[in-house]
Amino acid sequence: MTQAAELLQRIFGYASFRGPQQAIIERLAAGGDCLVLMPTGGGKSLCYQIPALLRPGCAIVVSPLIALMRDQVAALTEAGVNAAFLNSSLDASTASRVERQLLAGTLDLLYIAPERLLGARTRELLGRATLALFAIDEAHCVSQWGHDFRPEYGELGFLATDFPSVPRIALTATADELTRREIITKLHLDQAEVFISSFDRPNIRYEIVPRANAHAQLLDFLQERHQTASGHHGGIIYRISRAKTEGTAHFLREHGFNALPYHAGLDAQTREETQTRFSNEPDLIVTATIAFGMGIDKPDVRFVAHLDLPRNIEAYYQETGRAGRDGAPADAWMTYSLSDIVTQRRMIDESEAEEVYKRVSGQKLDALVGLAETAGCRRVRLLAYFGEASEPCGNCDNCLNPPRTFDGTELAQKALSAVYRTGQRFGAGHVIDVLLGRETERALSLRHNALPTFGVGSSTPEAHWRTIFRQMVALGYLRVDSESFGALKLEDAARGVLKGETAVQLREESAAPKKARGKSRDRTGTRGAGGASGAGGTRGYAAKSGSQSGSQADAQIEDGTPEAMLFDALRNWRAAIAREHGIPAFVVFHDSTLAAIALRRPDSLTHLRAISGVGEAKLARYGVALLELIEEHANASD
Ligand code: ADP
Ligand code: ZN
Repeated sequence: MTQAAELLQRIFGYASFRGPQQAIIERLAAGGDCLVLMPTGGGKSLCYQIPALLRPGCAIVVSPLIALMRDQVAALTEAGVNAAFLNSSLDASTASRVERQLLAGTLDLLYIAPERLLGARTRELLGRATLALFAIDEAHCVSQWGHDFRPEYGELGFLATDFPSVPRIALTATADELTRREIITKLHLDQAEVFISSFDRPNIRYEIVPRANAHAQLLDFLQERHQTASGHHGGIIYRISRAKTEGTAHFLREHGFNALPYHAGLDAQTREETQTRFSNEPDLIVTATIAFGMGIDKPDVRFVAHLDLPRNIEAYYQETGRAGRDGAPADAWMTYSLSDIVTQRRMIDESEAEEVYKRVSGQKLDALVGLAETAGCRRVRLLAYFGEASEPCGNCDNCLNPPRTFDGTELAQKALSAVYRTGQRFGAGHVIDVLLGRETERALSLRHNALPTFGVGSSTPEAHWRTIFRQMVALGYLRVDSESFGALKLEDAARGVLKGETAVQLREESAAPKKARGKSRDRTGTRGAGGASGAGGTRGYAAKSGSQSGSQADAQIEDGTPEAMLFDALRNWRAAIAREHGIPAFVVFHDSTLAAIALRRPDSLTHLRAISGVGEAKLARYGVALLELIEEHANASD
């Protein structure tokens, strides 16, 4: 066994490396630079934590978020590693104690906020210490084009010039080519080996449904998929505005859910409290704007829902990626409607940005609408967007319940001609009224009731027309023009349809979304996503016996069984420990580890040690207490 593998097992309690971890660790430990692009939950932290232990001296980890540093340091300390952080949250005497530890060589890892690292005092301090490596986490923050831009990150190139013999690793979950090049240039990583992992998140199930009533649909979704024996799963619900986050939180609380809003309009203390509660309370649902983002490293988020359309696929992927970092089944669920496209388009057009930026933003929005309206596999489409080819996944709504398509040429012609005849000045609402032959005040006053298209669509229900219009936008026949208040305009491609030269294949709207989900449940477990999605009588926690592959997520916990009772008892025990030590529960043990314990009921320290996530330090600290708890339960259930 290599020294790295020995550390993986002894300190972290994992059986084997994931993906490129081993190669990265070997290169860094040997003194080489690395650039690591790995999706959220891929296991980036170990890539520098293990080399930090292998190399002499202290590893310096640059991390932009205080909450993230705190959780990482807590988790390392739990695992028996000497780690600390330096940021503005520390008082002077604690900070100088940490500095002394650094100089004395007793620290293995030191997390530092970028602005602090740039200070002359810290530079001088680092010059006097023995350094193992520099890890630059969330490296995409160097990018001026991204929304996480941090000016201090742009200055970090000095690490290369001031410390030429200390190897550096930059890590990010943001994939695109432009960002990658910016990181290499600004951080002087020309010598770095680049490791790109697949961006697929096979345990996340993607589902996108048309919006009828957002709150009612959300309630259905939560009740069907995220109910547990003792309550409900925690998760994140993204909304487009501050007011909507508050409305949704209020709605959920009225229905008995533990929910809180989070947005940039709340004061810093409230935001900090909500963030901490999200880490500590397994069932908290945060309804949030995009302000709730980076720094969420909770591994057991079981769902991310979007009740409004995000800006683009990058944002959608990043936000949904916060679900299921632990590899257990998780949901990415979204509702959207045509009006969302209007809103997003308006936000782009009304922004102060340059024309190029607006054009690119518009194209990115189109790509997202295409994803939302596709009849094909969502994952294939998502991965293709990031330049990765793949096969239909079996774990998205369209794979589980393939939508039927039909020849919609005639309906498309009616829709386009109604847009044309009404002067390309109206949104879908009025155009549909005309198609249905509704004598509304507006139709009468504009004499639209005299148009040849008036009433030609009356045999097609209104809801059906809405999906047709969304698809016409997604297929590029119509465009939403925000300058004229969301009016639909014909695109050039529409001409072929109107002339009868182009046939249009449309997707049939799936039946009631509820029914669609009911069907899809029978097929959980494809692609090793584990059998438990929280559906029916199961908890949504699968115990992972090994570590590297999701297909080992074999057993699951059924409600009402002795395993479920033991699992609950273990979670209560964990909550008490977390409270006592003032750390998040997942830092003590992940749900997946507790589930494995409940299912396998180890009866000795050796058996307990074999469970993924139980390392040496945790075994020493909690082993006996856990075995006692397991034994008590065996007696109680006899
Ligand atoms: P990232 O920073 O890439 O989002 P993390 O480093 O937080 O991901 O890792 C995600 C989760 O996977 C963590 O809970 C971590 O403990 C776990 N993990 C990482 N590597 C392994 C491994 N080789 N075996 C089992 N679990 C792992
Ligand atoms: Zn699919």
